[in-house]
Amino acid sequence: MGSTGARTTQGSGETDWRTPAEVSGYRTTPDYDETIAFLERLVEADPHRVHIEDFGRTGEGRPLKIVVASRDGTFDPERIRASGRAILLVQNSIHAGEMDGKDACLALLRDLVRDPEQARLLEHVVLVVIPVYNIDGHERRSAYSRINQNGPELAGWRANATNLNLNRDYLKADAPETRAFLRMFHRWLPDFFVDNHVTDGADFQYDVTFALDATPDVFPPTAEWVRSSVTPELVRRVNAAGHLAFPAAIFLRDASDPSKGLAFNENPPHFSTGQMILENRPGLLVELHMLKEYRTRVTGAHEILRAVLEVMNRDTAKLIALNGAADRAAAALGSRGEAAERFPLILESDGETVPTLFLGREFQRERSEVSGAMALRYGSRFAPMTVPMETAVRAAVSVRPPAGYIVPPQWTRVIGVLEAHEVSLRRTTATWTGPVERYCCTGMEWPGRPFEGHHPILRGGNVEREMGHFGTCTLRTEQGTFPAGSVVAPLDQRLSKVVLHWLEPEAPDSALRWGFFDPIFEQKESGEAYVLEELALQKVRADPAMRSEFEQRVRSDPLFAKSPEARLGFFYDRSPWGLANRVGEYPVGRLPTLAGLPLG
Ligand SMILES: [Zn+2]
Repeated sequence: MGSTGARTTQGSGETDWRTPAEVSGYRTTPDYDETIAFLERLVEADPHRVHIEDFGRTGEGRPLKIVVASRDGTFDPERIRASGRAILLVQNSIHAGEMDGKDACLALLRDLVRDPEQARLLEHVVLVVIPVYNIDGHERRSAYSRINQNGPELAGWRANATNLNLNRDYLKADAPETRAFLRMFHRWLPDFFVDNHVTDGADFQYDVTFALDATPDVFPPTAEWVRSSVTPELVRRVNAAGHLAFPAAIFLRDASDPSKGLAFNENPPHFSTGQMILENRPGLLVELHMLKEYRTRVTGAHEILRAVLEVMNRDTAKLIALNGAADRAAAALGSRGEAAERFPLILESDGETVPTLFLGREFQRERSEVSGAMALRYGSRFAPMTVPMETAVRAAVSVRPPAGYIVPPQWTRVIGVLEAHEVSLRRTTATWTGPVERYCCTGMEWPGRPFEGHHPILRGGNVEREMGHFGTCTLRTEQGTFPAGSVVAPLDQRLSKVVLHWLEPEAPDSALRWGFFDPIFEQKESGEAYVLEELALQKVRADPAMRSEFEQRVRSDPLFAKSPEARLGFFYDRSPWGLANRVGEYPVGRLPTLAGLPLG
């Protein structure tokens, strides 16, 4: 809305370098064209330190852009790395109703090139900013996008133009935006990543909340640096600037009762910062508090970004060395064979909590006239409270990494996702038969309603509700035969965790959970009732073990007992004809070694 005031001048003919949000007194946020116009003015004024480039297109065809700030005009990632500088990538408006980080970045970029004191933050760091990631959502502007949020007047939409939440799409990579992001990310291969959001959920005093993973799936020395050195420094600097920071994304254990405390928040790789764990890079989730006024949120985002730049300038060589070591550790994941440590795929709270001072808001709980449940009503004053906080985590699901995986070539969509992630793949040049471990899966239940364009079997957690039910997958060793052109994904590469998370069925965002292998659960042949009668009678008479299993099932399962189809199907499923359907046989092989494969 309105003009950016971009070309206006103040007093003595000085150009007005206020951002559009600053010009409006933080009443409004600029649309995409105004945002890019402001950035292009910066480039025009200082082409030797600011640079804009495209990295793909959105679903509606808008060019995706990054802005690079580099003190000496080096805008090539290879040359930047060779100069020993670290690269910071900041992503804004993946949820385009949450545009605080965009307006903070306009001010940050302006300061870095216009203010000599701030310019020192580019000494050892190059800043790469995605001003708006979900551009199509950003341009769906309305006063009714975010009922929970305190301004600005118009805000964009959470999802992209096909109504996909891009912050659930990182591993499965359905959206063109995600595929463009992955290419751009690997070209720049940043040393540190920030994703700016605005909260949903509880009310409290903090305006800047943030989370930086130090969980058991993070390279341990990086986790130690994050825990002991980065997180406390970010809190200290943000607070010193007059804001109030809390070093966790705040999820109440009971949404209607803050006194029950704070929950551990899983970070699976459908999230940007979960994807960063697979990329072996620190990924900072920033969540500005939705109920604070827009000025407070934007300046809070600005302060934490400045604090990240301070830390990266302080620890440049250490950070670059940690990332290199993390890449090498990831490339060694599959090299240990039977002796390999198990890699955690799903983490959960171990139930232990520590009492934590939490600056919340006073509240009452009362029976709701509308919902009938206990409802939370916040009071007018902030209130310090000591609440239990889940801190310790354990692996709920873990796996021993193999040397690699082999995927039959007909599973093109599954392979396509690995290609989108730029995983290093090889193809077999001839039919190959050899020892593999393969899963057989049963007991899956799919949810009736869609989620992100699929009917996935997803685990619970603080963000996603439980969807469907993951049964069991049992591993067995067998001689597998794979056609020529099968895809081999070795784990001796920096993206080994992408391979593990996509191809291990029980991983939280696996291809199997997202439905890419749904056809393996379909029974394609069956028997007519009058044919199965013969088979069933014969088994009941001749096979006492099967007969007693059948009778036990009839006694214990009333639905089964009442269904003539299920009773006959019991005998078909156990017959050679039934087994020929191969229902639940997962086609991907776990390779104990790559030796002996015809890899051309
Ligand atoms: Zn968000």
